[in-house]
Amino acid sequence: MSDTYDVEVKLLAITPDAETLIETAGRLCWNTQDRTGTVPDRIQRWIEIGHESMIEHACATFFVRGSRAMTHELVRHRLASYSQRSQRYVRESEPAYIEPPELQVSGAAQETYRHAMDGAWEAYRQLLESGLKPEIARYVLPNACYTEIICTWNFRELRHIIKLRRSPRALPEIRVVAEKILDIMKEQAPQVFEVL
Ligand SMILES: Cc1cc2nc3c(=O)[nH]c(=O)nc-3n(C[C@H](O)[C@H](O)[C@H](O)COP(=O)(O)OP(=O)(O)OC[C@H]3O[C@@H](n4cnc5c(N)ncnc54)[C@H](O)[C@@H]3O)c2cc1C
Repeated sequence: MSDTYDVEVKLLAITPDAETLIETAGRLCWNTQDRTGTVPDRIQRWIEIGHESMIEHACATFFVRGSRAMTHELVRHRLASYSQRSQRYVRESEPAYIEPPELQVSGAAQETYRHAMDGAWEAYRQLLESGLKPEIARYVLPNACYTEIICTWNFRELRHIIKLRRSPRALPEIRVVAEKILDIMKEQAPQVFEVL
């Protein structure tokens, strides 16, 4: 069993030259476009004073693979576009689920967990065999079931999501996802994501 959450986060697309676009939008407000690129922390200083609307002009699209429990929380963020693998139209033929590393607390906990997963998938299989559609059989599948989702967020919403979901109060699995997103965004747009 892995000692972290086995989630995948991949950047699929991002606004080209995002920081220049953001600075252009911000400088338009003061008619100082001729100074674009002359102040290295220009965007950070706008963010610090709450002048954040210009960072909404840039967007990033991520592929995320993890549990349904985690994506249920992710999609609560409304300023976004989402496309998620359907459990109505796609059969979850093989047991595929997250194993929280917290289960390593004891062998008995791991056994109970895996037993529950096996039972859920066996029930799912039997319900399909009895002629039910995946959209009905899926009611027995657990929150732990792996899913895949493509998410598009603008940079302002991304900063907000990262701040909320990296917090020690957040679900451990979504914290791992938020951390991976932050690592990627720091590389892509350091002025916007280096300081949250
Ligand atoms: C640690 C933690 C525990 C949580 N526990 C629970 C829980 O027990 N139960 C539960 O139901 N949810 C829970 N949530 C989810 C939480 O309530 C939010 O739904 C979720 O974090 C989405 O964030 P958001 O509402 O800030 O905004 P987003 O949807 O990400 O929107 C970004 C911002 O836009 C603005 N905005 C968006 N929509 C509106 C609107 N309609 N009106 C006004 N302003 C708007 C707000 O300023 C908002 O912060 C929890 C979240 C966290 C981080």
